[in-house]
Amino acid sequence: MKLHTFKTGGVHPAENKIAAGKPIINLPLPAEVVLPVSQHIGAPAKPIVQKGDHVKRGDRVAEAGGFVSAHIHTPISGTVVKIDTARTPQGMPVEAIYIKSDDADREADAASMADSAPKRTDAEIAILDSKAIIDLIKDAGIVGLGGATFPAHVKLMPPPGSKAEVVIINAAECEPCLSCDDMLMRENSREIVKGVQLLVKAAGVNRGIIAIENNKPEAIAALTAASSSAPGIEVMPMKVKYPQGGEKQLIEAVIGKEVPSGALPIATGAIVQNVATAYAVYRAVYHNEPILDRVLTIHNGTEGKNLRVPLGTILSTLVEGNDYEKIIIGGPMMGRTASTLDTPMIKGTSGILLDSRYAHRRPTEPCIKCGACVNACPMGLEPYLVSTLSRLKQWDEAEQEKIANCIECGSCSYICPASRPLVDYIRVGKAKVMAAIRARAAASKS
Ligand code: SF4
Ligand code: SF4
Repeated sequence: MKLHTFKTGGVHPAENKIAAGKPIINLPLPAEVVLPVSQHIGAPAKPIVQKGDHVKRGDRVAEAGGFVSAHIHTPISGTVVKIDTARTPQGMPVEAIYIKSDDADREADAASMADSAPKRTDAEIAILDSKAIIDLIKDAGIVGLGGATFPAHVKLMPPPGSKAEVVIINAAECEPCLSCDDMLMRENSREIVKGVQLLVKAAGVNRGIIAIENNKPEAIAALTAASSSAPGIEVMPMKVKYPQGGEKQLIEAVIGKEVPSGALPIATGAIVQNVATAYAVYRAVYHNEPILDRVLTIHNGTEGKNLRVPLGTILSTLVEGNDYEKIIIGGPMMGRTASTLDTPMIKGTSGILLDSRYAHRRPTEPCIKCGACVNACPMGLEPYLVSTLSRLKQWDEAEQEKIANCIECGSCSYICPASRPLVDYIRVGKAKVMAAIRARAAASKS
């Protein structure tokens, strides 16, 4: 069988997926949650509760703060004890809503969670049109759960002049160490296929492709069986290559179309949604449930586990001890180093990596001009050059070298024999250049 993949660049890091095959453990609701209002790309949500308010599980506690934004809901019933700052894993302050439950709240939540029957019938769902489904996705606060956290409903509303032709479900999970999507697919394949059918209908297309790397045979088998009676839904096994789950790389791999530089992915006719997002869509429509939890992988080098964790849970409560050489939130390629685990679980938290193998960098040496980073870059950039321009603060030149196209996949840093921190410099330069581009666009409108 010919396996699809993208053409330019890519690397093959060790997979280290030791949590693969470990069933998802549903964690109990915590007694307290901390819900940051910024858990997504776009404008922060605005709190709609105050100190002293009583809220029920599933209530909206913060409203989307703009077109590109998402609502926030509470996974526990309880009392709002304060609206204050919390810390991101990197120690940055962010506004957050603190909610605490009492015994009566916990009893009420246990009773409501015991009722697991769908809240809408198939007949009721069959008559929902595209707008109705998009509204339910928006109401549920669903964002891209692969880590990008772009509001899912916005992607389903292409800008004027563009038209969707296909929904691609990103089930590649190409990051080493992470297995949360793999296990979700094995355990919830029928629900995911229903979610994909809803996304296909919402997008106004008749084709949905679930793209999975070929190192997940159980997930491929489960989804193939679940989609056998779902017209228009197909499962596409992919070659194992990082970063297969990059949006542009996945589109090219699946439908053979390149996203033009500076254009949105919809320019190819494709709408990409993560597989966990599809599951959240199923929950939103069938169970009328906003996004209240998500699955993440915890990997410490010798053990891995997959946990379904209520949003707002403090991450330090999920791990034993606190003596780690390095904490990475996410996977080893695209994850971010964290300074603390005293930070809440948010919609984009896909993993906690405590593996000491990723704790140390080799000493940085001078560039030997081997070109390995150029060959590895899936965006066709010259990483040694754009990182140098960024280090030298030559922002105009960095923009000309298309630093804004970098997807921060880390392939260049991974492959560099001189251990140069290429992506670290590139991230800084990209942020500067993107800010300048936005400022120019705003100035041209005013
Ligand atoms: S991090 Fe950016 S520059 Fe480096 S390989 Fe990935 S896309 Fe290319
Ligand atoms: S891979 Fe490293 S050593 Fe080779 S050209 Fe790129 S920056 Fe230089």
